[in-house]
Amino acid sequence: MEREKKGALEQQIRGRVRYGEPLDKHTSFGIGGPADIMVFPEGLEDVQATLTFCRSAQVPYLVLGGGSNLLVRDGGFRGVVLHMGGVFPQLACEEMRIRAGAGVRLSRLVAFCSRQGLAGMEWLAGIPGTVGGAVKGNAGAGGGCIADHLAEVRLLLPEGDEHIFSRDQLEFSYRRSSLPAGCVVVEANFDLERGDPVEIRRRVSENLLERNRRQPVEWRSAGSIFKNPPGDYAGRLVEKVKLKGTRIGDACISPKHGNFIINLGRATAVDVLALIRVVQRRVHEDTGVELELEVQAVGEE
Ligand SMILES: Cc1cc2nc3c(=O)[nH]c(=O)nc-3n(C[C@H](O)[C@H](O)[C@H](O)COP(=O)(O)OP(=O)(O)OC[C@H]3O[C@@H](n4cnc5c(N)ncnc54)[C@H](O)[C@@H]3O)c2cc1C
Repeated sequence: MEREKKGALEQQIRGRVRYGEPLDKHTSFGIGGPADIMVFPEGLEDVQATLTFCRSAQVPYLVLGGGSNLLVRDGGFRGVVLHMGGVFPQLACEEMRIRAGAGVRLSRLVAFCSRQGLAGMEWLAGIPGTVGGAVKGNAGAGGGCIADHLAEVRLLLPEGDEHIFSRDQLEFSYRRSSLPAGCVVVEANFDLERGDPVEIRRRVSENLLERNRRQPVEWRSAGSIFKNPPGDYAGRLVEKVKLKGTRIGDACISPKHGNFIINLGRATAVDVLALIRVVQRRVHEDTGVELELEVQAVGEE
């Protein structure tokens, strides 16, 4: 991208701007080439200014939360990455409604709800990432999903206008939301139920222990690579076709959980994508099931 364009953005915002920022530093997988520009907004005006810049300069942008559901390709991202992980950290409780900024970590949200004696979010325990990313992708586990207790979402449309959607104006399904493409979630409100704080904490610890037992949490990954096909589990199918432990470069199908690809150290996106194709082909040949990606692959080859 031309020098003038980059400088123009820097002058319009209060937050930091970095050039050629390696995205492996910002993804849970530890994989990804550089972003042309990374913006660390300091508030709403910075996000708006970035969106305006991208629109007028016709530069693509990627909204990044905790980077825990992304596979960034090795060529990186040609455009602007809007880093939402450090902005909008507000977290407040009014009666049984929680107001959470988009940048709030899910672990902090779970701990906050426990302290308030509010039940309904315990299933989120152990899921990395931010409120913004979880709402956009309707994060879920153990039968629950973020949409279950969602009341409202405040966001910026790609044109920069602020908009509030109530829950009934939105549709959510398995790891999907009808939030407009290119929108930036700023805040989400959740309506929870009163619960016994001891019981809530017990459920949170139980969920954490269960995750640690079943998932390779000691390794870098992006969580489940494939969506579970209707009525089945992707991990079970990978195990059935005996691909657990298969390795390409430093990308390896976790011997502990078939739906996790782990980074053994220096895995590249090329390694991970090759492994994904191996699994998809073998599972399709042996079982007829077409596994769909849950993780989002972005950026350039
Ligand atoms: C060990 C492990 C376990 C996991 N377990 C689960 C699980 O049980 N269930 C589950 O659902 N997921 C799971 N995940 C995946 C991931 O943690 C969730 O999908 C999480 O909600 C992603 O949030 P994020 O902030 O990291 O989003 P990112 O990975 O940064 O982004 C994901 C998507 O959301 C968009 N996005 C991010 N922030 C915003 C925003 N503010 N506004 C608009 N769009 C935004 C991005 O553009 C991208 O399209 C797991 C991941 C790991 C590493």
